[in-house]
Amino acid sequence: MSAPNPRPPLTIRMHAADNVAIVANDGGLPAGTVLPSGLTLVDRVPQGHKVALVPIAKDAAVLRYNVPIGYALQDIPAGAWVHERMLHMPAARSLADLPRSTAGAWNAEPLEGYTFEGYRNADGSVGTRNILAITTTVQCVAGVVDFAVQRIKEQLLPRYPNVDDVIGLEHSYGCGVAIDAPDAIIPIRTLRNISKNPNFGGEVMVVSLGCEKLQPDRLFPAGGIAIKPVAAGAVDTGSTGQFDAKKEPALDVVCLQAEKHVGFMSMIDSVLESAVPHLERLNARQRVTVPASELVVGVQCGGSDAFSGVTANPAVGFCTDLLVRAGATVMFSETTEVRDAVDQMTARATTPEIADAMAREMAWYDAYLGRGQADRSANTTPGNKAGGLSNIVEKAMGSIIKSGTAPISGVLSPGEKLQHKGLHYAATPASDFICGTLQLAAGMNLHVFTTGRGTPYGLAECPVIKVATRTDLARRWHDLMDVNAGRIADGEASIEDLGWELFRLMLDVASGRKKTWAEQWKLHNALVLFNPAPIT
Ligand code: CA
Repeated sequence: MSAPNPRPPLTIRMHAADNVAIVANDGGLPAGTVLPSGLTLVDRVPQGHKVALVPIAKDAAVLRYNVPIGYALQDIPAGAWVHERMLHMPAARSLADLPRSTAGAWNAEPLEGYTFEGYRNADGSVGTRNILAITTTVQCVAGVVDFAVQRIKEQLLPRYPNVDDVIGLEHSYGCGVAIDAPDAIIPIRTLRNISKNPNFGGEVMVVSLGCEKLQPDRLFPAGGIAIKPVAAGAVDTGSTGQFDAKKEPALDVVCLQAEKHVGFMSMIDSVLESAVPHLERLNARQRVTVPASELVVGVQCGGSDAFSGVTANPAVGFCTDLLVRAGATVMFSETTEVRDAVDQMTARATTPEIADAMAREMAWYDAYLGRGQADRSANTTPGNKAGGLSNIVEKAMGSIIKSGTAPISGVLSPGEKLQHKGLHYAATPASDFICGTLQLAAGMNLHVFTTGRGTPYGLAECPVIKVATRTDLARRWHDLMDVNAGRIADGEASIEDLGWELFRLMLDVASGRKKTWAEQWKLHNALVLFNPAPIT
């Protein structure tokens, strides 16, 4: 027998028109439980799962967020557990005849007077951390770069106390790929733009193998990179002759196949020697007070459950509105998780052209999935379903809430860099690592990640604030979760309270006054480039 439930039965309905609600109590509720409304549960309903509030006839819509998340495959009595096997999923919304920029004016007051301490860059962007990032052109060099990074940390970094970290931008791209295929532009521009993330201070240094397809001057074509010319002799000309050291602007490249390298230590010494001027310039950077409008926040979710769309994501959405009111930049992404909310998105577009760009990105992604004989329904995981999310429609309605209510003023294709401030739809896969990687390429300087099932996700390139959807997760993962949005379901805090708390925490984390748990433990996931083009 389980211990008696310490709290009265609690269910949460998202909209007055909904015919289901989710059970909030830890451990769920047993059959026979009488809800405050007088309804008696006819099944045991696990936490986060749906209970029918009224009888639902076969083929009738099951409504959550006032949206049909599915159609009943059988008659469902009131008080029954409504799970995924009882629902038929609706077809994806057609991309024709979408509302275009119809939502009207957003009458939110500007939010002024909020600041943080950041590193102002020559291009106007602002970093929240001060990191030397070593770009790699190909996976072949990753082991050497790892070794060199360790040496730099041991031997050089103590001399540059103002530099937070040294990292290798490692990935699986660069060779063995159809580099002239049209979609190869995505991984290439992603890597190029990540190298120029605001947290790296405009300092670009590259380690190349020599014979790879992604040559340094292809990654950074002339004029594509604004760095100071390096000292004569610092450019390492490859013996293969593929890298033209005479090209301007000079790019700081260590090429492992260069003839001058005799032995492994010669390569390592060369990387350390190249790192020194970059470390010196980074070390001279100082934090300055900048307006909150310099935040570039990427939001995403991972390991979602039915609480994601009830607690954490609405709190993030409220915070998104605060950020946009403060003039900051927010990106929401995860195309398969917003596909079912496309009409809400296109209605909120600031112009019909922005709405068309959204539809174009979705159509591209539909076709991409279609090539693999899949569709958006491939998104949901066993953990999502165990957590109460029946299908991608229900997941999407909980996911899009992260975008708040502001007008959407920009759309980015995968790997593109932001051009202006405001709320953006940055089209990316929902994969946590690929989404984070693409948001870094766009110029993200702070990441917010909500999770219900729990993931220790982190990035080496920028701070990640993790928000738990449930108190039970926040309690068990007390030294991994930065914010407990489960307090909303517990009745201890409102969505507004949590949104403000998150906003203030962002300013503290961006300023370096606070570290996230992932930073404290140095937890970080790999960069994963999105490569929809063929591998050879
Ligand atoms: Ca995700």
